Amino acid sequence: MTTAGATSSASVFSKSGSVSPESGPATSGPSALADEATFREEIRTWMGEHLRGEFAKLRHRGGPGDEHAFVEERMAWERELAAGGWTCVGWPVEDGGRGLPLDLEVAFHEEYARAGGPGRAGLVGEGLLGPTLIHFASPEIKQRFLPGIVSGTEFWCQGYSEPNAGSDLANVKTRARREGDEWVIDGQKVWTSLAQWSGWCFVVARTEDGSERHHGLSYLLVPMDQPGVEIRPIRQITGTAEFNEVFFDGARTSVELCVGAPGEGWKVAMGTLAFERGALTLGQQMAFERELHGIVEAARRNGSVGDPVIRQRLAELSTRLRIMRWNALRVLRVDESVALVPEAMVTKLFWANLHRDMGEVAIDVLGAEGMLTRYSEADEGDAGDIEMSPEHKLFFFSRSDTIYGGSDQIQRNLIGERALGLPREPR
Ligand SMILES: Cc1cc2nc3c(=O)[nH]c(=O)nc-3n(C[C@H](O)[C@H](O)[C@H](O)COP(=O)(O)OP(=O)(O)OC[C@H]3O[C@@H](n4cnc5c(N)ncnc54)[C@H](O)[C@@H]3O)c2cc1C
Repeated sequence: MTTAGATSSASVFSKSGSVSPESGPATSGPSALADEATFREEIRTWMGEHLRGEFAKLRHRGGPGDEHAFVEERMAWERELAAGGWTCVGWPVEDGGRGLPLDLEVAFHEEYARAGGPGRAGLVGEGLLGPTLIHFASPEIKQRFLPGIVSGTEFWCQGYSEPNAGSDLANVKTRARREGDEWVIDGQKVWTSLAQWSGWCFVVARTEDGSERHHGLSYLLVPMDQPGVEIRPIRQITGTAEFNEVFFDGARTSVELCVGAPGEGWKVAMGTLAFERGALTLGQQMAFERELHGIVEAARRNGSVGDPVIRQRLAELSTRLRIMRWNALRVLRVDESVALVPEAMVTKLFWANLHRDMGEVAIDVLGAEGMLTRYSEADEGDAGDIEMSPEHKLFFFSRSDTIYGGSDQIQRNLIGERALGLPREPR
């Protein structure tokens, strides 16, 4: 194992996020570009020195559709990253981050993905819950939970969706009642990604009797390892089961572990959703690039690259990837608050459809082979028993992109009503 936190290259940026006096501010102008280049080099060096040995097998593993791969090892990798100061790089220094300016945060995620950095086991904590706590939680809650996210020792899942509350989240039926100094929770969540590997869940629950819709909901932090919580994995068409049904049957959590005021959880829950468009999406674009590269390789191997229609579709994907990147940068620059800006609404719709189309091109490139999925012993690190080519996995898993984080139809409603100011749909 590599020595935790050791980097042989001198860090231009201290953990405090301040740029060293020699390097100048990293915001704009030629010196900022030079700083960014140095910073990118620092990341590349660190990744080269640390993503090896026992971690080498994690390269390019654990992304969407592959989250079951090497879970324990990816959790250990989170601690390795943390020791090097590479978790939560955009968080404020006082909350345990590096306080990196946006340009460098983006640079980090891009270089991480380019170096083959594995899918982040701490993604939900770092990308969703952490920013929510920083924005909405009491100092005590922040002190209790932010360090576990920064150090890669506590992992989180998101308990929003229920059988009749997905797009219509305000229909949440899970209830929590106060009993002494605890909340007692009953209800069911569904599609809870990574619940089986998470120590904690942030749960949207109804805490006021007789309340309806978005009133009377609370945002509770609930430990998963207790008798009142049952997790049932849901096996998907990819053969893997990274998301779950979660049943709460008298589950308990401290009355203090409510983010925001009891009954006012809707505002907090919406804040979390807005963070889904954060800087981490820039790494996603790099991962898509790599997938496209894989498709081109497959087309070269079987000769379909000579087909003018396939060539045109590949070129179109490449162009759309560039547009995706510029879209994401535009969102990140527009607004750093938790408000959902019009640019972000367009971005989700854009990348989700791009990725789904990429899956379709991948299958078409395979030709007749695309009709076969190979059944065999699982790869090392795979929990499932269906081995698929990366193109198959991409095709199947990318179907979910237009559902989670706001389905296409809901995104279109949002764009129509909130961005374009069209009349609200009849309810
Ligand atoms: C891979 C993946 C991971 C997920 N991880 C999590 C997680 O970790 N935690 C969590 O809480 N949830 C998670 N989800 C759930 C996700 O948030 C929901 O699937 C999503 O909100 C849609 O809800 P639903 O599945 O209940 O579909 P529904 O809301 O029932 O929608 C069904 C269809 O009806 C359409 N529709 C619904 N309402 C309208 C309307 N008003 N106008 C037009 N069309 C409409 C939808 O667009 C969709 O096509 C995950 C989902 C996926 C696919």
